[in-house]
Amino acid sequence: MYEDGLPPLRDVISHFGLDAKKSLGQNFLTDLNLTGKIARSANGLGGCNLQDSIVYEVGPGPGALTRALLMHGAHRVVAVEMDPRCIEAQKEIQAAYPGRLDVFEGDALKVNEQELIGDTEGRPVKIIANLPYNVGTALLVKWLTLKDWKPWYSSLTLMFQKEVGMRIVAAPRTKAYGRLSVLSQYRAEARIMFDVPARAFIPAPKVTSCIVALTPSEEKMATPKQEILEKVVYAAFNQRRKMLRSSLKALGTDPLPYLNAADIKATCRAEELSVEEFRRLAKAYEK
Ligand code: SAM
Repeated sequence: MYEDGLPPLRDVISHFGLDAKKSLGQNFLTDLNLTGKIARSANGLGGCNLQDSIVYEVGPGPGALTRALLMHGAHRVVAVEMDPRCIEAQKEIQAAYPGRLDVFEGDALKVNEQELIGDTEGRPVKIIANLPYNVGTALLVKWLTLKDWKPWYSSLTLMFQKEVGMRIVAAPRTKAYGRLSVLSQYRAEARIMFDVPARAFIPAPKVTSCIVALTPSEEKMATPKQEILEKVVYAAFNQRRKMLRSSLKALGTDPLPYLNAADIKATCRAEELSVEEFRRLAKAYEK
């Protein structure tokens, strides 16, 4: 038994027969010290303490992170999980923390998180999750491309494969800089908090993972519609080796007038543009 009175995670995994399914991106954590570190790293992020916050967790699995969040005092945890076997395993945690854990069966890509969370009583919401690697990027894009900004959450603390984490925080003129870097840094401050070795997971993946922290930024002046920004970024990076005067033709009109209006050299390539230059470019294209 651990200090929360619940059995070790390895026992939970064998008791509920949670042999990992690749199709669900299942790599389970078993060390509550590590998940405690993840929970603590979210404390104070976005100016909000964990204890005051409601946590939205995707894919609680056998519950290593869920338990750490509750042990470290999250006011309430709302989780969405696709695997019914894991929902069974979560029932023991619900019993140990009455009224503080709600688990819903569903696909995190499709759910309306705010409906699941319900009344927040004015509390901030933190998203904290060890994401299934096969939908991790799609989930991040879902949360960063909301129509309304500022968003309904105050911070994101997410586990990704290290290579994805590096793309999220990458600077211009580097190999890792691309669509995901611009989308992430356009609306949020992103940083890598720490690495998590492959051996921390059951089964162990082939690569190192990392925890990425993102806090939403204030909406900037002269912001283009989000879908316009996405369109421009997509077209630019879709042919990243080409100059913008050529790659942006995919948007259907001559790019030179709006490249000039945005004061961006037509001979630049996508990877040379800062996030701020992408904002100017998208605004000029929108006009
Ligand atoms: N949080 C657990 C941990 O740290 O040990 C499990 C993490 S595991 C990487 C990802 C979890 O997400 C699995 O439990 C899996 O069943 C669940 N999952 C996969 N795809 C999902 C989806 N689209 N929506 C909700 N949960 C999903």
